[in-house]
Amino acid sequence: MTKQNEPIREADHTGWIDQGPRNEQRDRQNPNILVPPVTDHGTVTNLRFSFSDAHMRLEEGGWAREVTNRELPASHDMAGVNMCLKPGAYRELHWHKEAEWAIMLKGNARVTALNENGESFIDDLDAGDLWNFEAGIPHSIQALDQGCEFLLVFSEPDFSENNTFLLTDWLAHTPKDIVAANFKLDEDTLAALPTHEKYIFDGQVPGPISQVSRPGKTMQEPVTLHMKDVPAKQFEAGKVWIVDQNVFPAAKTISAAIVMVEPGGMRELHWHPKAEEWDYFMQGQAKVGVFNSNSLARTFDFQAGDVGVIPKEAGHYIQNIGDEPLIFIELFKNPIYSDISLNKWLATTPAQIVADHLNVSTATVKQLPSEEAAVVWYDDPTTPKKSNQSNGHTDDANSFFS
Ligand code: MN
Ligand code: MN
Repeated sequence: MTKQNEPIREADHTGWIDQGPRNEQRDRQNPNILVPPVTDHGTVTNLRFSFSDAHMRLEEGGWAREVTNRELPASHDMAGVNMCLKPGAYRELHWHKEAEWAIMLKGNARVTALNENGESFIDDLDAGDLWNFEAGIPHSIQALDQGCEFLLVFSEPDFSENNTFLLTDWLAHTPKDIVAANFKLDEDTLAALPTHEKYIFDGQVPGPISQVSRPGKTMQEPVTLHMKDVPAKQFEAGKVWIVDQNVFPAAKTISAAIVMVEPGGMRELHWHPKAEEWDYFMQGQAKVGVFNSNSLARTFDFQAGDVGVIPKEAGHYIQNIGDEPLIFIELFKNPIYSDISLNKWLATTPAQIVADHLNVSTATVKQLPSEEAAVVWYDDPTTPKKSNQSNGHTDDANSFFS
């Protein structure tokens, strides 16, 4: 008899109760870590870190926290920052050495940027919208009336939000006579220049974007993307929005797939030939199984606010084990999104070859799915025989990007 929330595995009659000390809340969040599937094997490094366990930097205008390779050493390509701004608050004018890809999670904001051709950019963004600033491009973010929370993803694993080039930090560390000469102003006029960086600070909610006047040229290639303009690929158990060079030319370093999996569905067995996968979970609960050659396999639990890493080329699946739509973002340090589907591979290999490997008949091989199906049913709630779960699909995710 399996006990709830105990490290006891029915499948092979292993384990025993945990009499404590223990963190039961954490164990309850990690059913597949507490009781790994029998197929897990070997020593697989940690592939998960929650923003809830990251240092919170609290500032006048909001907060920021980061998950880098210091928190998650398995990440070799990218680092992430989760940031929140009060209504009207600024993330100050700055730039950095890494490319920045971002998605607005809640609220609204106005972003500005300038490129090396002297072309400037301004746009207002709502939840679900994206921006991308390549390395060295100066930019700012200001929350609008709702305030905002967003995810930033950077193209180096050791990036730190505390290590960017800030306007006020530079001027505070430049002799005032040099600053005055540069701006053609008196030093007295600059008496109140900040003596240290402002970073995230309060401001007034600005007026409509139509009333903002900007001298100079406008950027030819938009550095924002409104997700309502991106068509979703519809699959039997969910949707995928692929955002790469083909739909977002400004994103030259990082590509993404935003995935919604219905309750009872899963992201099929697949891998990525071009880059390591960096995941951010936006909603729901996921069971993620990773196969990393040499019989290495490990299963992780994820929920909203968690970051995951899938090693380059490692096979994996992502199953929705909750009762609401699972929404997550797969990010890659590669301008084009790509994956290889196990089903597609086997369906396009001569049936006899596959049959000889799987010890099944060629007739069985011919039944394998051959259609592209990134998100498939594990437990189709519309099929009556597997009916111990609700039929109540919500439309939360369907409306997220509209
Ligand atoms: Mn930035
Ligand atoms: Mn993947």
